Amino acid sequence: MPELVFFSGTMDCGKSTLALQIGHNRSARGLQGVIFTRDDRAGEGKLSSRLGLVTEAVEADEGMDLYAHLVDRISRGGRADYVIVDEAQFLAPVQIDQLARIVDDLDLDVFAFGITTDFRTKLFPGSQRLIELADRVETLQVEALCWCGARATHNARTVGGEMVVEGAQVVVGDVNQQAGEVGYEVLCRRHHQRRTTSASARAGALSPDVLPVSSA
Ligand SMILES: [Zn+2]
Repeated sequence: MPELVFFSGTMDCGKSTLALQIGHNRSARGLQGVIFTRDDRAGEGKLSSRLGLVTEAVEADEGMDLYAHLVDRISRGGRADYVIVDEAQFLAPVQIDQLARIVDDLDLDVFAFGITTDFRTKLFPGSQRLIELADRVETLQVEALCWCGARATHNARTVGGEMVVEGAQVVVGDVNQQAGEVGYEVLCRRHHQRRTTSASARAGALSPDVLPVSSA
C-alpha cells in the first residue's frame, strides 16, 4: 500500500541527505520520482544537503496545487513513481491534504521531510497537518547534538549568535550564517529554555547556568 510518511527531525539532522538517498536508491531500481522543495538553501528548484549533494527539484510555491501538478505531469505522459517533499514544514496545510490525495488517488508513495517545531517550539502548520494525516511519522535517528553534547531537540533562531524568541515564523536562514544575519542553531531543550547558544555559552563560560551538561 502506498504511504504518506513524515520524516521529522531538527535542523541539521540529515533530513535532506536522507531525502536524496531515498531518491538515489529508487532511481537505481529504475524508478522516477518527483521532488518538491520549498526555500532550499541552494535556491529555487534545488534540493541540497549539507554534505554537498544537490539535485533538481520542483519549487512548491505558496498556492501551488501539488496534486494537480502530478495529474498534469502524468496526463502529459510524464513518469512519476513516487514523490519526495523536502522542507515540508513550509507547505500550507491544504498542500499536505494534496499530498495525502496523491497517495490515495494516484497510488504513489509520498515521503515528506521537515522540521516539526519552529524557533518558539510551536508546530509549523504544515508539520501539524502532516502529523494529523501521515500513515507514519518517523523521527530521524541521525541526531544532531547541542553544543553541550546532549541530543538537540529544538531549533533556536539566532541573530549575531544570540537566541531570539520574537519574529515571523518563517525566516530563511542557515546554521552557518554570517555575522549579524538570522541563523539557526539546534539545542537541547534545557539550553533552548535557558536561551543559551554556543556563542552565549562561550561568552558566559563562568556562569554556572551555562556549564556543559553531561550527556551521559
Ligand atoms: Zn544543551
